[in-house]
Amino acid sequence: MNVKRLGILGGGQLGRMFTQAAHRLGYEVVVFSPELESPAGSIAEYEIFAPYDDKESLENFATLTSNISTEFENVPSETLKFLSNIETVDLVSPSASAVEIVQDRIREKSFVKSLDLGLAPYVALKSPEDLETIDFSNLFPGILKIASLGYDGKGQIQVTNMDELKKAYEQLGHKPCVLEKKLNLKMELSIVLARNKYGDIKTFPISVNTHKNGILHMSEVGLHSFSDSIKEEVGGIATEIAKKLNYVGVLCVELFWLEDGSIYVNEIAPRPHNSGHFSIEACTCSQFEQQARILADLPLGDTQLIQPVIMLNLLGDAWFLESADESYPIEPSWAEILTLPGVNLHLYGKKEARRGRKMGHVTIMLKDSHKVRETAKKVAEILK
Ligand code: ADP
Ligand code: MG
Repeated sequence: MNVKRLGILGGGQLGRMFTQAAHRLGYEVVVFSPELESPAGSIAEYEIFAPYDDKESLENFATLTSNISTEFENVPSETLKFLSNIETVDLVSPSASAVEIVQDRIREKSFVKSLDLGLAPYVALKSPEDLETIDFSNLFPGILKIASLGYDGKGQIQVTNMDELKKAYEQLGHKPCVLEKKLNLKMELSIVLARNKYGDIKTFPISVNTHKNGILHMSEVGLHSFSDSIKEEVGGIATEIAKKLNYVGVLCVELFWLEDGSIYVNEIAPRPHNSGHFSIEACTCSQFEQQARILADLPLGDTQLIQPVIMLNLLGDAWFLESADESYPIEPSWAEILTLPGVNLHLYGKKEARRGRKMGHVTIMLKDSHKVRETAKKVAEILK
């Protein structure tokens, strides 16, 4: 089998940036995606268009590549299992067993609890009978979160009492959920980590994240001075999680930093993460290149921060700034942004702009922290 070819499940922007990193290392890429002409598929050498449970197409995929990763959080674990059982396949990263845990909030939380790491008080809600038998009183105000397939704040409802909880649970179709206590957050942090099949680990610098309407808005890196003990604690949490999952690949841990100084695990993503996009410009080896290196059996790269950096997400909403009609998005003019020093624009090549849809991101990297902040403010102002 041609070793200079890597495979990725999922065709979104994370797969596109993986493909760009793999290309730079001289690899061809095969994208397997249920979406035709996806952001990744449209730049990869090969694109297999099929649902994730189509075994024949998965077998075809494996004739083209023997080293496979995923960019889509919710690839069925059976798909990963099926691929890893094909004789010619060398590496499926991450493994089905790791993904199975983090795809389901109930399993994910009990795993985190089993490691003795901090997390928000929660209970699992598995059936309507649980509403009668479980004591929820110390979890209000809380957030009811669907156990699987939630993202960008979707499948989450805030509740303050039993009545609201009952309604919210019904609204989520009585599907398995967790009710989590709403915490007072000082900051939201995240850390991306890469671990290869030999157990070598590289952690990226900590991101400080701001969300808007449940969607990541901004990640700042190198602009807050964290004490060594915080850095060690955050790195230690991610390392512990990766080791205990026997994880091979790139993963992200989202964390809550509480007012009282404690650090809680929010969730684990078994793939490169939106809050790690800064690493494309701001680290010698990006999170996507680490993913490619792990698949290609190349050494992990340098993750030191080169300069302070801010990443701003570019949502479809910016396509409606000049548009008088909701059905006619107009692409913003990028000229004003592109002339600012230290700015890199990434567009994901999505055919249709919709409100709330991630269309691209902007990275602002400069030596001077103050100027990074000023420039980010200008970019945000232009796109508002
Ligand atoms: P998603 O899968 O949509 O990213 P998260 O569980 O990360 O779901 O929740 C999205 C955002 O909602 C978080 O980044 C945070 O801003 C807020 N949030 C989630 N859970 C809590 C909580 N227990 N307390 C306070 N804020 C929360
Ligand atoms: Mg999240």
